[in-house]
This record gives sequence, structure tokens and C-alpha cells, in this order.
Amino acid sequence: MAQDGAASQQITLEANHELRMEVAWGKQVHLQLLKGQAEVFGTSLDLGERVSIRGQKVAVYSWQGCLLELEGDPDVMYTSDETPMAHYLNIHDVLDARRQEALKSKGQGPRTFVVGPTDVGKSSLCKILLNYAVRAGWAPTFADMDIGQGSITLPGCIAATPLEAPIDVEDGLPTDAPLVYYTGTPSPSDNPTLYRHFVERLAHVLELRAQSDAQVRASGLFVNSMGWITDLGYELLKHTVQSLKCGVVLVVGDERLYSQLSADMKKSDPTIQVLKLPRSGGVVVRSRELRQEARKVRVEEYFYGNRKELSPASQTAKFEDLQVYRVGGGPRAPSSALPIGATSVADPLKLSRILNPHELLYTLLAVSHAPQPELLLSVNAAGFIYVQDVDVAKGTITYLAPCAGPLPGSLLLAGSFKTYLD
Ligand code: ATP
Repeated sequence: MAQDGAASQQITLEANHELRMEVAWGKQVHLQLLKGQAEVFGTSLDLGERVSIRGQKVAVYSWQGCLLELEGDPDVMYTSDETPMAHYLNIHDVLDARRQEALKSKGQGPRTFVVGPTDVGKSSLCKILLNYAVRAGWAPTFADMDIGQGSITLPGCIAATPLEAPIDVEDGLPTDAPLVYYTGTPSPSDNPTLYRHFVERLAHVLELRAQSDAQVRASGLFVNSMGWITDLGYELLKHTVQSLKCGVVLVVGDERLYSQLSADMKKSDPTIQVLKLPRSGGVVVRSRELRQEARKVRVEEYFYGNRKELSPASQTAKFEDLQVYRVGGGPRAPSSALPIGATSVADPLKLSRILNPHELLYTLLAVSHAPQPELLLSVNAAGFIYVQDVDVAKGTITYLAPCAGPLPGSLLLAGSFKTYLD
């Protein structure tokens, strides 16, 4: 029997096999490495360390074989030896050689873009390659362009974070120094101009960081993309490759996308290397509802922590003391008011101040570092608050903030998607 009374079992994992587990939100299991070597998406497990897996779908992979102890009851659990891990390790070796060269020549290490349709394991591949780079002594940067999930901070965010230690299996990516831009929506089609704008801002800041630190520069960058790979989604992918000056594009699980990107990159910049990788059979396909639920869980985790270890503060403020802006609210003239043949186009980057607080109910607001409204789209977000209640009569809003006390700024950027926190 295990420490907390849950049933336990020992599992022997052969070399080059993985144990795949799905643990529903609100449930947890514990895992302990008793013998041998094992890793979770590239993060090594220490011998004897008891790791909690909560609301996650994970693969515990072993290159050499191991003995594990599992406490609790995962919803799904099975082992497999059909994994793309050998391909992933080969890619790591190629990237590592480039980092060595970059360090010697004081040049730029590999900037790697990971693309593919939804649910092919792009984020997991990024984690594995990031962890392998960290374990080899590098300090890579992770940039997440998938605003649908927002793995670094929150859905709706384009963000990047430096990595100096392997990603914690329980706590996920480090959250102490992310660079974050809030688009306010989980779907880039809502305002593609804003999406492009923030990708370029992020690229600019990352370029400055890389210029000032040779180790960071040589370590390179991993960029995770969204799974929208057709039409405008495809154009946005190409824009990201160009903006972040990616030299390697890893296409996961899609032959057509691979050949399309190979042909396009050959035309635009033949030095960009496009490589294809197989999808892992372990990747779990998520329905639309599950993705919505995942977004809500991300928001809850931002404020409460993934173990409910944080104590966010609920505070009330006069709405007039906050300056809340929305992007893309430029007025659209009715076509009857325009000359024949002319079309009305609202400025997608126009900022307009929100005067009715009611529209903010159950939304996230990014608290900006910007000193003045004109800079709201140039400066990154300091953090987020969640609007819990609005009293129009009193002119107040009640919001949840990660900690008590004054906000780091009085300029805020509103988003459009609503999340109902219980
Ligand atoms: P998206 O469509 O959101 O961009 P993605 O392509 O980035 O998805 P992942 O997020 O990497 O895919 O994987 C989808 C889910 O499958 C995640 O919950 C991940 O933890 C899980 N998963 C990935 N690989 C495995 C595996 N080998 N075994 C078990 N679960 C896995």
C-alpha cells in the first residue's frame, strides 16, 4: 500500500518503451523511479523521488529500462515501444552540434520552429528538445505562438520564457520571467494583424536578449506553433518563421504541410532546413470541449496554482481609476456612407477606451508595463487580473489578482473571451 492509502503497483519498463498515462483533471497519481532511468517529456526522474501527476496526459520513457512504482489509478494506462523518441534524439544531436559551432564562432544557435496540425505532439516535442538542450548545459528560450492554449501563461498570449533548468514535471514551465503579449483571444483569426504585430514585437525583444548574452544566443530558440495550418493559418506560420528568423522547421505528422513548406521555404530562403518527423501514437486527441476546459484550467492555475497552493486576492476598484483599452475597436463606417466601390475597413490596431465596465465581466485583463496608452501595443504585459463582478451602479469592478496590493500599472488591455471561474 502507498503512503496515502492508495493502491500501488510496480511496473517494469523495458528499454526504449514508454508508459502512457491519462489522469483526469481533479485526480492525481504518484510515480516513483525505483531502478534504472526514466524521463517525462525529456525531464529525468530522480531515483526515489515521488512525483505527482495531476490532470495530465504523460509518457514516461526509458532509454535503458527501469522499475517504477505507481500509486493511484490513472484513467488510461498502457506501455508502448512504438515511439518517435529515436528520431527526436537525432534532431537533438544535430541541433546540439549547431549550438557548439555557434558558441565557438560567437554566432546564433539554432532557432527551431515546430509545426503540424492539432494534436500531433508539437508542445511535447518542444518540451523534449528543450529539456535535452538544458540537460546538455544550454539555456534555450521557449516561445509559444499557440494562443489557443497559452502554455507559458494564459490562453490568448504570445509569450516566451528562458529555460535554465529542466521543465518541472509537476509545475510545468517556469513562470518567473516570461515575456508576454496579450492578444485577448484564443483564435488568431479574430485579429490576425494584432497577432502578427505581437509576433514581431516578441521577435524584436528576443533578438535584443540574444545579442546581449553569448550563451543564450548559442543555445537558440524553440518555437511552438498553433495547429491551424491552412489558408490564413499557413500564412501566419510563414510570418512567424520569417519574424523569428527560424533556420530549422520541424514538421510533425503531416506530409502535405511538409512538402508545402519545403517548397515555399526553398523559394523564400533556401538556407531554412525543413525536416519531417512522425507523430507519436501516444498523443491524445482533444475535442473542442476538452480544449475549452483546458483553457479554463490554465486560467485557474494562473491564479490558484496547479496544486491550489497560491492565494489570489479579490479586490474592488473604481472603474474610472483604471484605464481599460480594447484593440481593434476602430469604428467601421456603414457602406451606405462610403463612395461607390469603397469598402470600410476598421483599423485592427486601433485602441479604444472601454467605457462600459459590464462588457468586462468574466474576462481577463492584461496589466501593462506601458507608461501611456499609445504604448499599449509596444510593451509587454506585467500580469493579469480576472474580472469577477461588475457593479455598474456603483461604478466598481471586483477582480482577482495573483496577489494583494496595487496593480503594477493602471493601463489595462481587455480581451474578448470569457471564462467562468467557479
Ligand atoms: P495542439 O493541437 O494543442 O497544438 P500538440 O500538437 O501540441 O497539440 P501536445 O499538446 O504535445 O500536442 O499533445 C497532446 C496531448 O497528448 C497532451 O496532453 C500531451 O501531454 C499528450 N501526449 C503527447 N505525447 C504523448 C505520449 N507519448 N503519451 C501520452 N500522452 C502524450
